[in-house]
Amino acid sequence: MVRIMAITYEEALASVLPFVRTRDVREVPLPDAVGEVLARDVIADRNIPPFPRAAMDGFAVIWTGRETERPYRVAGSVNPGTVWGGDPAETDCVRIMTGAKVPASFDTVIQIEHAEVDREGTVRFHTPTRRGQNIAQEGEDILQGAVLIPSGTYLSAHHVATLSSVGRWEVPVYRRPTVAVLSTGDELVEPWEGAEGPMIRNSNAHFLLAALNGLGFRKVRYLGIVKDERETITAKIREGLACDFLLVSGGVSVGDVDIVPDCLAACGVRKILHKIAVKPGKPIFAGESPTGGIVVGLPGNPVAVIVHFSMFIRPLLLKASGATEYLPKPILLPLAEGAVNKSGRKKFSIGRLEQKGGETRVVEIPSHGSGDFVSACLAEGVFEIPLGTSHLPAGEIVRFYPIWGNFLSHEG
Ligand code: AMP
Ligand code: MG
Repeated sequence: MVRIMAITYEEALASVLPFVRTRDVREVPLPDAVGEVLARDVIADRNIPPFPRAAMDGFAVIWTGRETERPYRVAGSVNPGTVWGGDPAETDCVRIMTGAKVPASFDTVIQIEHAEVDREGTVRFHTPTRRGQNIAQEGEDILQGAVLIPSGTYLSAHHVATLSSVGRWEVPVYRRPTVAVLSTGDELVEPWEGAEGPMIRNSNAHFLLAALNGLGFRKVRYLGIVKDERETITAKIREGLACDFLLVSGGVSVGDVDIVPDCLAACGVRKILHKIAVKPGKPIFAGESPTGGIVVGLPGNPVAVIVHFSMFIRPLLLKASGATEYLPKPILLPLAEGAVNKSGRKKFSIGRLEQKGGETRVVEIPSHGSGDFVSACLAEGVFEIPLGTSHLPAGEIVRFYPIWGNFLSHEG
């Protein structure tokens, strides 16, 4: 029997990414820029720091190397936002506060802890200093005209601090793609409906909607549940193809009712790939719509859906949103216990982080497979067992993708 090998996960991403296009640019006010992707380089509008800035509270002096040998006269003071324009003698100093502009006549700041001020307004320094100490030089962080934040950067709150500092109130960002979500399956009811007998609740669509929302996608169209019937699926797919992305859950495998790929073809969707050598999620389908949109068909198994939203769909969505870095970034960490991979494919196993003896290790979460959404609730991310590897011993370094964990709240 001839078996056609499914392509690898990496090949799968590499074959779909070239079909992903970014959209046009819009301007948003700075507070709305978080979670958007910068569409033009942000240039420093002046040198940063814009003037020689005191990095400590203390006294500005003209450095001679003999600061500890003689008293200094305090000739004035300068706070942030003020200037001092006197003409100091060699043993004059000015009191200066962190963030203030160091007057041009001075070249060194001695921190307040190294000084003793007496009542007559003179000051003695008891610790030797170096020339230029405690001054952040003009332009030492970046020079006017240089690129401060490159186009394609996914903006977070800390970028807002920098954008504010250079006066960028209107921020050019890429317009997000629109996304449609469709669930297929005769067995599905909505979470607000009763589930009797063979029926199960539709969790995939609501997961996808939540995950899209979390990634900042606001133009999302939910197409609901459709039965496994060609006409209804095809009609809904046509509706979904009005969006830049269509995410379909269920019906892409090899069962009798897995008719989604056929229905997509009937709507003119051109197959890019169908099946990836990965566990979970082998039957994944990806295609291009007649208008250049991207269609991803996910197998209905809930764990495959939550894993591949981050590992397969998120990179496509981020690229479509203009991000230059869109591939998931793993952290290399040791495994707490051995892990097996009987699949013969690359396995994304669900896991969580454990801290023991000063070391952070990856703990695999026992799971009954890709239908086991209960164990997935404990997961903080996934780790890779490479294709061709059937067993990894304890202590082996693995690639861990921190997808879901609230890592900064950890107290251990
Ligand atoms: P399928 O890929 O359509 O063969 O579905 C695979 C498995 O995932 C079946 O056990 C389905 O019942 C389950 N499933 C399919 N769609 C959903 C969904 N929207 N929410 C939760 N489970 C689903
Ligand atoms: Mg199905």
